[in-house]
Parts: sequence; structure tokens; C-alpha cells
Amino acid sequence: MPMNCERLADLLIDYLEGALGPADTQCIEEHLASCACCGKFVRTYQTTMSVAGELTEEPMPDDLRYQLHVNLRQRLKLSCHDAVVEGDPPCASAENAE
Ligand SMILES: [Zn+2]
Repeated sequence: MPMNCERLADLLIDYLEGALGPADTQCIEEHLASCACCGKFVRTYQTTMSVAGELTEEPMPDDLRYQLHVNLRQRLKLSCHDAVVEGDPPCASAENAE
């Protein structure tokens, strides 16, 4: 299955937690290297999580993890949409690939 922004959003949390297999990890890293909006989003997310990790040592509850997942997907789609509007279409090739 080709990697695109929507699929990356589905796998992003598992990727950041190191829970993906090597094949999926490689697909995500290749997409991040070629897609400006996803790369920027992941850097922002990693910064947010490192700050949050300093506030609590508790593991993330499942419901909070799910909410974060939903928010990530929505924000990632919005950030990619903005990138297209600004004349930088990193996501167009993924949409045309199918
Ligand atoms: Zn992307």
C-alpha cells in the first residue's frame, strides 16, 4: 500500500512510539523526507510530546491516546491542505498514485 498523508496520520503514533515494523517505519521516513507538511508536523508533534513527557511520568491512558490520535489526523489534514493552498503541493502525488 503506498504511503500518503492520510495513511501516515494513521501510523504516526505507533511510529513515534517505535511500535512499527521496519517496513512501515521505512515507508514513513521516506514520506517524511519527501512531504514538507508531514515532516513539519512530526517535528512539531515531537516537541509537544517531549514537553508533555516532562510534565508527567504516567503512561498515556488509552482514551487520551485515542483523542490525541483523532486530533493528529485532523490537524495533519489541515496542515497539508494549507500547504496546497499556499502553492506547495507535496500531497498531490500521493493522491494521484492510486
Ligand atoms: Zn504527507
